[in-house]
Amino acid sequence: MNSYIGASGTFEVMRNLNLDKIYKLILLNQPISRAKLATISGSNKVTVSNCVDYLLKKGIVRGLGAVGSGKGRPATLLSINGDSGVLVGIEMNIPFIRVVVTSLSGVMLENIILSDIEIAPEVFIQQITETINMLKEQYKTCKLGIVGIGCAFPNYNHQTGVIESIQNMPKWNKFPILQEMEKYMLGIPLFIQSTIQAATMGEIHFGKASPFEQLVYISGTWGISASMYSNGNLVSGQHGFAGRIGHFIIEVNGRQCTCGSKGCLEEYASIRALFHKLYPGQSQHYKYIEEILDRARKRDPIVIESLHEIVQYLAIGVVNVINAFNPSCICIGGNLGSIIEASLMLEEIKTIVSQSLPKRYWESLNIYCSSLGELGVAYGCIAVVRDQLLSILGDKPVIK
Ligand SMILES: [Zn+2]
Repeated sequence: MNSYIGASGTFEVMRNLNLDKIYKLILLNQPISRAKLATISGSNKVTVSNCVDYLLKKGIVRGLGAVGSGKGRPATLLSINGDSGVLVGIEMNIPFIRVVVTSLSGVMLENIILSDIEIAPEVFIQQITETINMLKEQYKTCKLGIVGIGCAFPNYNHQTGVIESIQNMPKWNKFPILQEMEKYMLGIPLFIQSTIQAATMGEIHFGKASPFEQLVYISGTWGISASMYSNGNLVSGQHGFAGRIGHFIIEVNGRQCTCGSKGCLEEYASIRALFHKLYPGQSQHYKYIEEILDRARKRDPIVIESLHEIVQYLAIGVVNVINAFNPSCICIGGNLGSIIEASLMLEEIKTIVSQSLPKRYWESLNIYCSSLGELGVAYGCIAVVRDQLLSILGDKPVIK
């Protein structure tokens, strides 16, 4: 992840590090007092106060008034100053493009769906440019206007700025999306992430995961992928494609996978596997997601029986993830997470995990389904921009 630190001196780097840390702690724990900030940051009270005073002066943070009735001076709670600007998040997906706008504090202001399926990259950029122009006009009275744009694409390689591939959409293969989009974003800072990494950031900023966890986020969609968040950073691997757990081989000479291998996890435990069981011979699975969710909620026996097999394989994937990464928290997101939650089948996964590993490996582990539903990725796009707010504003802090 990029850092806004541009200073060469160690002293200034330390000041910037403190400021960044305090900003992110307010962001993720708001409303919060200076005393609590000092406790959870491990910084002394003078450093915390200097950082807070700077953020207040810049209008990034605001005080919510005094609270507390105990001894001593009442504490002032601090939060992000939501009204000073807006953030835009864009999720490129099939069969839609979602554009959300939030305040700096993350309150949803717009949730726009643009069509269409199988869109070409040039048309996508044109549609987004028109939307950004419209939003820029709409929010021009905000002090900071549109502060930044976060965007998520499947199989985006953040090391090269290129989309490696999108299934059945060859026009996107190796498309230099970062370079092409930056030409049209009117100078507004642009941050692009892979869909799975955006979803993970969304869970940290807007979901139930804590920023202090060793989180593995498993996204169950047409395929399965995962992303790990550790010590405040996403772990992406040498070439940026860590987390391809959908291609864990769980059956020798098993079903043929789209990756060319056989017996991959996602052939048994993804929405793709579930869809082929429930609607054999059908295509355009996205038209059926709401129906499957509804049937899962009603515990339709056919859906539950199909899910039973899916969940057993997914649990094996979860066990492999635990053995590989030793996380403190596993979140199952995407459509599969919503369906497992709706059908009350998460307990089955936990049972298989507990039967497959010694107790010390799972007793303090939190396994849950994301509650962000279809907005998880878009929220993640917002989170990525919020994470970089100080960098975007480009200030050289004067904290002493
Ligand atoms: Zn595979």
